Amino acid sequence: MKVVSNKKHLHELINSFRDKNKAPIGFVPTMGYLHSGHGNLVQISVEENALTVVSIFINPLQFNNKEDYINYPKDFDKDLAYLSSLNCDIVYIPDYDDVYPEGHIVKDYNFDRLELVMEGKYRAGHFKGVAEVVSILLENVKPDNAYFGEKDYQQLKIIEKLVEQYNIPVKIIPCKTVREADGLAMSSRNVRLSYEERKLAPLIYEQLLWCKENYHNFEPQGLKLHVQNIFKQHSEFELEYLEFASLDDLSIVNKWSDFENVGVFIAVYLGKVRLIDNMFLFSNFAK
Ligand code: AMP
Repeated sequence: MKVVSNKKHLHELINSFRDKNKAPIGFVPTMGYLHSGHGNLVQISVEENALTVVSIFINPLQFNNKEDYINYPKDFDKDLAYLSSLNCDIVYIPDYDDVYPEGHIVKDYNFDRLELVMEGKYRAGHFKGVAEVVSILLENVKPDNAYFGEKDYQQLKIIEKLVEQYNIPVKIIPCKTVREADGLAMSSRNVRLSYEERKLAPLIYEQLLWCKENYHNFEPQGLKLHVQNIFKQHSEFELEYLEFASLDDLSIVNKWSDFENVGVFIAVYLGKVRLIDNMFLFSNFAK
């Protein structure tokens, strides 16, 4: 496994691979502090490609909260050992200047509704930062396939749109959310939960499951009221949003029968840590 910190070195490695092979290159962008959710993306890429590149870059542009950026966990040595065990080929850990050289101008993106709801609504500028870094990383790596987790479903949709809008020649491959044994979606931020908070955290998954089990009995507003009440009873949590949205274009769903593919999306603060999760509810309510 090769570890590189600048795009010149990265290009040399990738170009020499391209010269000798027609086989595909897979790419997994991450912010590090890797867990099995990331590991799953890497494994799928290793299975489907002849060369897998993983990037680790904590992108300041996508943090709307400075404290969250400063406290974002890091452990490069552990990440490298993990990636090596997964047979990753190249790890790209760029410096800030390698991604954003002096004088770099951030493009002005427009994703319409995709960036106006949920994460877009509550984290101003977040998706512009995500789009900017992903488009630069895709340009630097030039992969055939790029792997993204459904845990960040809205991000996945934004990236699909980005690739379409800018004609970026890459296939975006969605990968299922990986969970802890008690249902909590794996996240690098979970490590910031206290012991007590970590014990309470599966409530998020339980409420998503409750929605899935009960959508036949209530319209969206009824489910929402129930979940809001549950979180009110647990003062350690602050529910930021619970939304039902089309899995196709993220339109907000107020009546099941108006939409075909629907998911439930949640963001909560547990203590100081903001966690997001989502779950597929149904395809075609009438059937
Ligand atoms: P991050 O390091 O949080 O920026 O995540 C890097 C990639 O891993 C993104 O495509 C995420 O959606 C994905 N990812 C993070 N956590 C999970 C998880 N629990 N299950 C599946 N994919 C995940």
